[in-house]
Amino acid sequence: MMKIAVPVEQQPGEARVALIPESVKKLVAAGVEVSMEAGAGRRAGFSDEEYAAAGAKISDRAAALQGADILTCVNRPEQGDYTRLKAKSIVIGFLRPLDDPAGLEPFLKQELTGFAMELIPRITRAQSMDALSSMATVAGYKAVILAADRLPRLFPLLMTAAGTIPPAKVLVLGAGVAGLQAIATARRLGAVVEAYDVRAIAGEQVRSLGAKFLEVDLGGIQTEGEGGYARELSEEALRRGREMVAKHAAASDVVITTAQVPGKRAPLMLTAEAVSSMRLGSVIVDLAAGTGGNCALTKPGETVVEGGVTIMGPLNIPATVPLHSSQLYSRNLMSFLGLIVSNGTLKIDMQDEILKGACVAFEGGSAHPKVAAALGQPVA
Ligand code: NAD
Repeated sequence: MMKIAVPVEQQPGEARVALIPESVKKLVAAGVEVSMEAGAGRRAGFSDEEYAAAGAKISDRAAALQGADILTCVNRPEQGDYTRLKAKSIVIGFLRPLDDPAGLEPFLKQELTGFAMELIPRITRAQSMDALSSMATVAGYKAVILAADRLPRLFPLLMTAAGTIPPAKVLVLGAGVAGLQAIATARRLGAVVEAYDVRAIAGEQVRSLGAKFLEVDLGGIQTEGEGGYARELSEEALRRGREMVAKHAAASDVVITTAQVPGKRAPLMLTAEAVSSMRLGSVIVDLAAGTGGNCALTKPGETVVEGGVTIMGPLNIPATVPLHSSQLYSRNLMSFLGLIVSNGTLKIDMQDEILKGACVAFEGGSAHPKVAAALGQPVA
């Protein structure tokens, strides 16, 4: 019988779990054994009893991993986990192949296969597996909640007997998945919202959410690259964006920044000077803190106050909404598992565009070019 293991996530602050009971039930019904480390879902709101009722076996970590064909995780497994797995086992999760490819060495040593959720190609057939979008959705929402909590003002327009309170002004930088969710959330709370993105196509989506789209003349350069992602811009184009952003930030109460370029440092969009021109008490939430930050004053993982402006650089926002983050992630994983598990047995077709794209190592060999390069291996 095929076995899927789900360990407790060990990264500090992590509260998500790879598979929720609903998914476990489906796998068990399909003839798969699901082995959970005790307490794996607890911080996300799912008890061992719920998992047991869904048909999972509950055990300690070593027993859960022992003999597993597939290990599903949110974050990369712990060092000690790799040696517990049998050769050719499959690990599926956020494996960080682009920002820390060298950390995938155990895959080659232990002859494991790895599929990185962040490398799943953004094609229509893979939309239901898009865990990056799921997590970005949660992050965009929660960023606005963090800002609202910190802001000394209210978000909505209020007309009271004590006078009128004007709505908060929110500026969202980067209107991808996280940015659009931030816009929608800020609008729901009653704020007046402006947004900027280098991809002109984002303008329509921004406007459809009731926000104003800010445009910068970038001289007609190509700003969109492969897979609908942004390209890295020239210094001149970045400068023009920063000038416009500085002007609008000075009139905003909240700035949420979400701009990213895959595999690169996040673009600098808010300079220290721009922050110094912002109003006392205003709040910046930098969702790109983990990749260098969009704001020059961001300290990853910290909240700092500079000249009366609060700058928050949260690193793992999805973990702070663990129930729904896990639910979305688990459904994304299930959709991906559907490609390699059929009728309770494992079948991997490495010609499949999605599997090929997401694979960081296959049975210890043919690693993803980035991983191979980082480990000094020949590229397959
Ligand atoms: P992301 O997290 O990589 O970046 C966030 C946003 O920052 C993007 O919209 C990007 O254009 C913007 N950005 C980058 N550099 C910038 C700069 N210097 N100035 C201003 N903005 C900058 O992107 P994402 O949210 O994951 O997705 C980006 C696009 O891909 C969106 O259009 C999204 O709808 C699309 N998408 C497609 C699929 C699919 O087809 N399956 C899935 C998810 C997202």
